[in-house]
Amino acid sequence: MVRTLRMTKLVFDVGGTALRCARWNNGRLDARAAAESPGVAQRDADDDETRVRAVTERLTALGREVAGGTEVSELGLAFPGPVGSDGSVRQAPTLWGRELARPVQLADRLGAAFDGARVVLVNDVTAAGYRYADELRDFCIVTVSSGIGNKLFFAGDVEVGPQHRGGEIGHWRIDDRADAPPCECGGRGHLGAIASGRSTPWHLQQLRAGAPELAAGSRLPAAATNHDLVAAFRAGDELARAVVERAAAALGQALALLHVGVGVERFVVYGGFAQALGDGYLDALRTAAAAHAWGEPSDWHARIRAGAADDDSGLIGMGVLLDRGSDRR
Ligand SMILES: [Zn+2]
Repeated sequence: MVRTLRMTKLVFDVGGTALRCARWNNGRLDARAAAESPGVAQRDADDDETRVRAVTERLTALGREVAGGTEVSELGLAFPGPVGSDGSVRQAPTLWGRELARPVQLADRLGAAFDGARVVLVNDVTAAGYRYADELRDFCIVTVSSGIGNKLFFAGDVEVGPQHRGGEIGHWRIDDRADAPPCECGGRGHLGAIASGRSTPWHLQQLRAGAPELAAGSRLPAAATNHDLVAAFRAGDELARAVVERAAAALGQALALLHVGVGVERFVVYGGFAQALGDGYLDALRTAAAAHAWGEPSDWHARIRAGAADDDSGLIGMGVLLDRGSDRR
């Protein structure tokens, strides 16, 4: 008698607030589970091994829950930080706070926990890009959430350069002033500090000081959250619009540079901040990009599009990558 073993493929999206896992089954996600990321508050207090083990153990438990006793043959992990050419990870500010003293082979550790299952580990923005790679082939994926990140794809594959340092426009320094806002990497005036969802308080402070007439007419509370900002922006509040336009102006410049620098013609924009703000944000981005590049401003309408209106790009892209049989890490 021939017994067919059910071989399960699992995909993970590792985030600073949540760890998510799903089963990848015939080109779609079916079973799912999520868990809280290990304590954000104490992550800087723990030693490296404790921090790494906390993540590995939670991912293992989550994977076992989703696999439900079936044999796991492959795992795909979308990781919120740079992944070295040897598959090692070291930095993930949203997950681990300060950098680890030494690179860690996270893929090997997770593979060992699942009896030697094959593990593909990639950066989370890279993973999200693979969701669109078969359709778009040549494009740039851009995430706008609590940080900014990008990855360039050519002929359906990501290109990050020989040292795997590409796709980090969030750390491009665009404000040289000594009092420019600090970036989570420790730098100052980086795009991620000026154009992401994290930039709202800084823009509000600048605008309230420099444009009191806007502030006077605004219904935004003094300590406005991004939730407040989105609601006010959608309701036509002028101060909220100015905040969004300033954030979009900085990123639009970067997209214009990518376009004139390497000729990329399509940008897929996703991430919590961009998705919450909606079409009005994309229009501000198009206007800013057009102002910093040559050619017809209207071309930018087709160039910049929104990603799918869900939070699944990392999981789905990871599944696509597993199905390709790639050993990419
Ligand atoms: Zn930075």
